[in-house]
Amino acid sequence: MARIITDECVSCGTCAGDCPVEAISMGDSQYEIDPDKCIDCGACEGSCPTGAIVEAE
Ligand code: SF4
Repeated sequence: MARIITDECVSCGTCAGDCPVEAISMGDSQYEIDPDKCIDCGACEGSCPTGAIVEAE
């Protein structure tokens, strides 16, 4: 299951640079993770200053 970005996202873009498979990009109102690309490595989670990246249930 891919990780997701919650509405805590402030669109700083830090996580996008940390994703090894380029699964993170700016969406309509905040950054989003493409679930088809995400390998659930967790690299992005620690880079988010607001803790907006979480494991999907
Ligand atoms: Fe990219 Fe890994 Fe975050 Fe998935 S968990 S979006 S593969 S950095």
